[in-house]
Amino acid sequence: MKLKVEALSNKEKDFIDFDLEENISSLNYYGVDYNLISPIHISGRISRAGRNYFVKSTVDLTVESSCSRCLVDVSCPIKYNIDAYLMREEYDEGDYEDYDVFRVDGSEIDFMKIVNSTLSFNMPQRILCSEDCQGICSGCGVDLNFEECKCDAPVDTDDIDPRFAKLKELLK
Ligand SMILES: [Zn+2]
Ligand SMILES: [Zn+2]
Repeated sequence: MKLKVEALSNKEKDFIDFDLEENISSLNYYGVDYNLISPIHISGRISRAGRNYFVKSTVDLTVESSCSRCLVDVSCPIKYNIDAYLMREEYDEGDYEDYDVFRVDGSEIDFMKIVNSTLSFNMPQRILCSEDCQGICSGCGVDLNFEECKCDAPVDTDDIDPRFAKLKELLK
């Protein structure tokens, strides 16, 4: 995910349009594992801003993780924008409050670094297979999306352990 930007620094061009992707198999944020089922894709435009650069781009990727209620695998598309200054010079953070700012050096920009440092803020808070997923009953363990809770179900007497059968007879 590296882009050569010599054409900007030597003023040959005012901007470069780019479209880059990289295959990564998994990510881990805050202890949650996400499998990537698409490459990480970033596209946009980088333009000259004095001695620095300004990038306007869109990141998209699809992750797979388990529903936090019922644990079924769910694929989850993620898409967000990165509008950021890429600084070759020292800068005062106060001047760039409304933007992300990254330090870059040289004539090549590693977009993977930029994506990496923005991804954690853009991962879903929790993954759900659907907003109204019923989850798994903590008592009987059934998936409540497909089965009824068995917690209060009467015990089927045929399933009673033979060792208790005698006791059952006595109680009649
Ligand atoms: Zn679910
Ligand atoms: Zn139950």
